Formats: sequence, structure tokens, C-alpha cells
Amino acid sequence: MSTCEICGTQIMDHGENIYVEGNLIKVCKSCSIRGKPSKTQPDIQRKPAMRPRKIEKLDRITFDDSSIIINNFSEVIRNSRMAKGLSHEQLGLLIKERASLLRKIESGSLKPDEVLSRKLERFFRINLYTEVDSSDSE
Ligand SMILES: [Zn+2]
Repeated sequence: MSTCEICGTQIMDHGENIYVEGNLIKVCKSCSIRGKPSKTQPDIQRKPAMRPRKIEKLDRITFDDSSIIINNFSEVIRNSRMAKGLSHEQLGLLIKERASLLRKIESGSLKPDEVLSRKLERFFRINLYTEVDSSDSE
């Protein structure tokens, strides 16, 4: 014969198994009403762990949103190209981009995408991106 692990009375029938703070204990009928039934325990542990990660990946389709392209990117690119004495065509050949695209970027009518920006950054050893904190609104 066993005793209830909560109130200590002797369990006359088969008793109840419940979880209390993660431990499975044997208790009498009247105490089992207050505890959590043992069935619910696995569900409590499973649900919160799985969800958040998937959502986070979907939000990250665009590249790092904590950095934005600088306002005077066109000026910086133009100055860097001039400093090297390159024409749009020559630069285009070197970084495998069209000269017409480079002209648009230098005139400020087009923002370079991430791939092109990184190419220009590497080629000229310049920074086209700047870190911003979330409160910044230009
Ligand atoms: Zn009891």
C-alpha cells in the first residue's frame, strides 16, 4: 500500500499519477484534482519551441535592414571612378556591369542593388552602406 505524496494519507485504491513541477508523483484522489493530470505535460513543452524560428526566416527575404545605402552614393561612386581615371565603359568592363547602368547610378536616378553595391564597395574600397538605428527617419 502506498501513501499520497502531497497530503500523506494512505491510498486505499490505485491512486492517481500527476505532474507537480515536472515530477511525476503518486497522490490520492482528492489531491489529484488540484494537480495537473499527467496527460497534459508533453504538450506544454512542445508548442512554444517550434514556431518562432520559421516566422523569423520569412521576414528576412531582404538583406540586413539595419544598413541603408548612403544618401550621396552617386557622388561617392563618381568620385571614386574619376580618381581611378576610368570611363563608365571601362569600369563596366572591370566589374562586369553595363555602362548605361553605371551612368544612371552616378546621376542618382537609380539605386544600385545589393550585389552591385558590394561589387563597387570592393572595387573602390569604399562604403556605400551606413548603419542606422530603428528610430532614424533620415
Ligand atoms: Zn493526498
